[in-house]
Amino acid sequence: MDDEKKLEKLAKQIKVCTRCELHRSRTEAVPGEGPTHTEIMLIGEGPGATEDKQGRPFVGASGRFLDQLLEQAGVTRADVWITNVVKCRPPGNRDPLPDEVETCTSNYLRHQIEIVNPSIIVTLGRHSMGLFFKGAKITQIHGQMRKVEDRFVIAMFHPAAALHQQSLKSTILSDFARLPELLKEARAELGKPAPKGKGKAVRKTSRSK
Ligand code: URA
Repeated sequence: MDDEKKLEKLAKQIKVCTRCELHRSRTEAVPGEGPTHTEIMLIGEGPGATEDKQGRPFVGASGRFLDQLLEQAGVTRADVWITNVVKCRPPGNRDPLPDEVETCTSNYLRHQIEIVNPSIIVTLGRHSMGLFFKGAKITQIHGQMRKVEDRFVIAMFHPAAALHQQSLKSTILSDFARLPELLKEARAELGKPAPKGKGKAVRKTSRSK
């Protein structure tokens, strides 16, 4: 089976998944989306109310801010893979429970990462960061790129946190602005050339030169 089909198969399984309690209160599960193979994968926490209705990641208020963050880094949304730690909305936007995180990531997210095979994973918020850096404090490691197995991971604040806390806004803006330079570094370290033409993760903009 080719990788596109593998991702589609996972998405179909996610849509009807009943492996944890979160399926009881969801409207739509949100598998995630993006090009089959791409250099950057963003991992949020879990769908919010708008995502739960539409079945797509980051389409509410924090999604609009995420679009701005990507744009100022010269990255188009269509060129990145976007998903979440848990694929169903935790009721009332509560934190996902450890067993929900374990079930969802071992059955879905880990496979999505392997198939998409990004050079850089950007974790958005604590829960996503905790998958790669157990016990780390986001205030201490945000914006730093670290090698995890055969790719790089950068922890960033969650866009919703920056929307609600003005002081974080400039931090998340400057962390995202460094993505093009970090991607260059990652490509060099991993020996992966920049993709040509369509599907290029980072485009030259006046802000990303
Ligand atoms: N917050 C998240 O963590 N993920 C989404 O998809 C939307 C909001």
